[in-house]
Amino acid sequence: MVATKMFELGNKRSAIRSLFDYGQEQAKIVGKENVFDFSIGNPTVPAPDCVKETIIDLLNTCTSVEINGYTPAPGDPEVRQSLADYMNKTYDAGVKGANFYMTCGASASLAITLKSLVEEEDDEIVVIAPFFPEYRVFINNAGGKLVMVPPDTEHFQLDLEKLAAALTVKTKAVIINTPNNPSGTVYSAETLAGLGTLLKEKSAQLGHPIYLISDEPYREIIYDGLPILYVPKFYANTIVCYSYSKSLSLPGNRVGYILIPDEVAGSKELFTTVCGAGRSMGFVCAPNLYQKVVGKCTGQTGDVGIYDANRKLLYNGLTEIGYDCVYPSGAFYLFLKAPDGNSNQFTENAKKFNLLVVPGDEFGCPGYNRVSYCVDPDMIKRSMKAFKELYALYQ
Ligand code: PLP
Repeated sequence: MVATKMFELGNKRSAIRSLFDYGQEQAKIVGKENVFDFSIGNPTVPAPDCVKETIIDLLNTCTSVEINGYTPAPGDPEVRQSLADYMNKTYDAGVKGANFYMTCGASASLAITLKSLVEEEDDEIVVIAPFFPEYRVFINNAGGKLVMVPPDTEHFQLDLEKLAAALTVKTKAVIINTPNNPSGTVYSAETLAGLGTLLKEKSAQLGHPIYLISDEPYREIIYDGLPILYVPKFYANTIVCYSYSKSLSLPGNRVGYILIPDEVAGSKELFTTVCGAGRSMGFVCAPNLYQKVVGKCTGQTGDVGIYDANRKLLYNGLTEIGYDCVYPSGAFYLFLKAPDGNSNQFTENAKKFNLLVVPGDEFGCPGYNRVSYCVDPDMIKRSMKAFKELYALYQ
């Protein structure tokens, strides 16, 4: 009667959503203030003022059709040009408006890009653990095969030897995500340079270009003065999948882009394919009003200092208790080592104290649990007693 694979997908809740729903139910029983929900990555920092001001200005100065009508499928030409101007000014990117395809956020950017690259059923897409679980869904939908590079649990950087071993004649693309969800690590210039060299060598050796898909919804959420690196500078064959969900705190308003610089192999043909893939998936155009908003506000962020303060509060509190985790440098997640290595059991034990943390298994990294710190700082402070009691279970 119905498409079985889609039924199964709809019927299966992700671990993150299930925990979030559990938290909502639990709040009705024990009170909202007694549930410590660290499950979801929904930005709590307000959008920068520019967003509200731009919306008001657009509402006051544009006609209804100008802000509510369809835009061309790849996006509003003026918006695309202003994004190009920003990227050129900031990263010396050398791109044009025509290199941008506006999307409904990073999920759409990734799903469309993958649909554009996968041709054969056994085309391989390489992901590096720990990775955003929805990659599985997007790769399956595109008809490709996911190949996972095991995690480097010491630094959560990129293990180039393991990556090299995963690249085959069937490799179409490699997906990276820095700053990373869930580990919070940021790839260094050295890591990216090594990656660029490896992919260049392997492309030559295997006789076809390997695309690098850089999934960057957390690009500007970075701490300790670390530089924001423009990935195509390290490897020309890079497709950037960006989103304003996190930088401008706009996850419910669905806006982002795919950037295909001219240097990407077959860039013109790929851009046309992206248009076809978007069309086949029913993405008529990204939301008009919010395209215009990001055209004006690109480069701005919510107050990253709030996430930074949360990061320190959580990291210091947890490591003082005795927990082990890598100090995060970006995004708003901390990846905690389960004291006995069993992350599913850790999540279950944590629930006993109304602490909601996500097991790393879905991210391809069992033994770790993701703690999202885009939360109220007061909740972090109040949760420490529960984290302490949870830790005591393992002593
Ligand atoms: N990629 C990563 C690594 C993410 O963490 C997320 C969202 O949490 C996405 C993509 C999807 O973001 P969007 O809301 O823009 O679809």
